[in-house]
Amino acid sequence: MSRTWNFAAGPAAMPDEVLRQAQAELLEWRDARASVMEISHRGQAFMALAAEIEADLRALAGIPPHYKVLFLQGGATLQFPLLAMNLARPGQRADYVLSGHWGDKAAREAAPYVEVHIAADARASGYAALPPRADWQLDPQAAYVHYTPNETIHGLEFHQVPQVGDVPLVADFSSSILSAPVDINRFGMIYAGAQKNIGPSGLTLVIVREDLLARATRPMAAIFRYAEHAAQDSMLNTPNTFGWYLAGLTFQWIARHGGLVAMAARNGRKADTLYAAIDGSGGFYRNPVAPGARSRMNVPFFLVDPALDGRFLAEAEEIGLLALKGHRALGGMRASLYNAMPQEGVDALVDFMCDFQRRHG
Ligand code: PMP
Repeated sequence: MSRTWNFAAGPAAMPDEVLRQAQAELLEWRDARASVMEISHRGQAFMALAAEIEADLRALAGIPPHYKVLFLQGGATLQFPLLAMNLARPGQRADYVLSGHWGDKAAREAAPYVEVHIAADARASGYAALPPRADWQLDPQAAYVHYTPNETIHGLEFHQVPQVGDVPLVADFSSSILSAPVDINRFGMIYAGAQKNIGPSGLTLVIVREDLLARATRPMAAIFRYAEHAAQDSMLNTPNTFGWYLAGLTFQWIARHGGLVAMAARNGRKADTLYAAIDGSGGFYRNPVAPGARSRMNVPFFLVDPALDGRFLAEAEEIGLLALKGHRALGGMRASLYNAMPQEGVDALVDFMCDFQRRHG
């Protein structure tokens, strides 16, 4: 067994306990006499499992009854257009707040279906700071306001839910879902690809306020329509049953380990450990993001001399610190510290960084 500390941004590390449980029940799940991925999604056993998983998630995240929970496919990328098609009427305008790569992508992909208005854009700061709330040009008539609470590539995070008045707030929580408690009532819709904090890729979570489902009036295929997925309990077509099951195991794992309050405390401590090491390195390592906007989930950092990057990555990998290469758009390094990454993994990374600096600084 040579599992390592995996700092991948997604698909990302999953909790060992979850993988072991899945391994133990892989051939025979409960009394199905088959694997959970070999049984009908419409059979009683899987339908019951899906209901349990939804109930567990509702309890974990405090999802009120007037929100629908959908387990879909197509990733967050499919939600970029779908949310516009479902939440805006043709010709309506929607406000987008850009704090990095993914918010920008969300706006571009929505543009064929809604009049996209960029209400704020932190591009001028090189995405090193959040756009100050006072500068947002919000339209009270907008169909919704979209933002990205955690930017996975640029490493920026909103640590508070922004106030946007009565316009429904829509958030791409792909890289920070379930990492801390969030008041769902503040949102019209939340969505997230599963492959960072929930489970394997190929599953997408959508949490949407029920009254907003009636907005989808334009002609579109059933599979594009959130109301249809809700009416059919996310079984409009064959779902990713194995991913759904693994998400359920992860929800139970989070609950066993103290729920979202405990996750937030662990995640805060992990991030503090790594940022302290970066900031305390005398400039050998550098994170460009304004301290109040720094992500707890994704920490990009740069070595003082990029010529050392290759050596840093090779030495890290040799001692079992994986997937630290930064996103190709930024270069440098990136450590993703999702729920499944324990403090020991971050401590091992920081020890290595100090040692590397001693030898090459
Ligand atoms: N939004 C964010 C914040 C992301 O981090 C990602 C993937 N890294 C996406 C959207 C795109 O997700 P997917 O690949 O699941 O479509």
